[in-house]
Amino acid sequence: MRAAVFYGPNDLRYERVPTPAPSRGEVVVRVEAALTCGTDVKTLRRGHPVMIPHVPTVFGHELAGTVIAVGEGARGLREGDRVVAANSAPCGWCALCRAGRPNLCEDLLFVNGAYGEYIALPPRLVEKNVVRLMQGTPAARAAFAEPLACALLGVERARVEAGQTVAIFGHGPLGCLIALLATARKARVILLGKRGWRFERVRELGLAEIVDTLELPDIVDGVRVLTAGRGADVTVDATGRPEVWEQAIAAVGKGGTVLFFGGCAPGTAVRLDTRRAHYDELTLLGAFHHTPELIRKAVDLLESEMVVPDGLITHRMGLAEVRLALELMARGDALKVLIEP
Ligand SMILES: [Zn+2]
Ligand SMILES: [Zn+2]
Repeated sequence: MRAAVFYGPNDLRYERVPTPAPSRGEVVVRVEAALTCGTDVKTLRRGHPVMIPHVPTVFGHELAGTVIAVGEGARGLREGDRVVAANSAPCGWCALCRAGRPNLCEDLLFVNGAYGEYIALPPRLVEKNVVRLMQGTPAARAAFAEPLACALLGVERARVEAGQTVAIFGHGPLGCLIALLATARKARVILLGKRGWRFERVRELGLAEIVDTLELPDIVDGVRVLTAGRGADVTVDATGRPEVWEQAIAAVGKGGTVLFFGGCAPGTAVRLDTRRAHYDELTLLGAFHHTPELIRKAVDLLESEMVVPDGLITHRMGLAEVRLALELMARGDALKVLIEP
C-alpha cells in the first residue's frame, strides 16, 4: 500500500509499505478519511517522544474508515463495519486509570498510521477506543472525533455553562472546536486571533465573535472592554504559547476559570499574580488528551449534528500530498486538510 511514513524530524516520505494483515486481537481498517492536525506539524518539526516512540512509522492520527479484516479473537467488530478509531488507548488498571482519569494513564498506548491506505489497530485500541459509526455518517466528519474529544475534555473541565462568556485565545482548529462546543452549551464565545487567511476563513464560518488581536492596543484590556469591565468567566489558551497563557490569566474575571489547553515548549514558565489567584479565587486548569468515554461522546455530538465541524476542512488532498498539507498548516493557510487515501 501507499503511505506517508515518518522517519524523524523533517523526514516524511511517501512510499510503498507492506499492507497490514491483522494479528491476534487486531482489526485492519481501510482509511477513508484522515485529518491533519497541529500536533502533526509540531511532530514533523521536532519529533514526539510520547506519541511516536519508534520510527519509521506511518504518520497521522485522526482517521475513520471501514473494517476490512478481523484478527482471531478480536471481539465487537465485523468486516464492513464503519468505524472511527482514537489515537490511543489507556491500560485501564494503573492508579490514574482507576481514579477515572485515563487520559493521564501511565501506560497510554499511542497509535499512528492515519496517512496510509490501511491501518492495523492493536488489540487494546480495538477493545477500548474504536467506535462503530451509524450508516450515513460521513467519514470526514467522523474523523473529528479525536480532536473534538480533546476539546470536550477542556470544556468539561472548565465547566462551561449557558450564559457564561468564554474568551478563546487562538483560532486554530482546536480553538474553533472549543468555540463550537461552548456555543452548543449556549455560552457567549469570543475568539481572539491575528488577521490573515485563517482568520478570514473562521470569520466566514461565523462560529463565534472573532476579534483581530492586532487591532487591539492591549489584548487583555480588549477582553475587559468586551465583557463590561469584568473579564471573561472562562479564558482558554489554544495557542501553546507561555505569553498567551499569561494573557489568559490576566483576562479572566473574578471567580473565573483559566483553561491551559495548548501545550507549551518544554522548559517554559509563566508569571502568576498570586494576589489575584487567591483573592479572585481563580481556577487554573490543565487539559490533556481525551478518554474513551469522551471519544464516544464526541461521536454522539457529531452524529446528532449538535456539533458540525465540516467547515473547518479547508482543503482535500491525496496521500502523496501530506507534506504539502502540513506545510499549509504550518503557514496558517489551512485549518484542517482532509486526506483521502
Ligand atoms: Zn490531533
Ligand atoms: Zn492506565
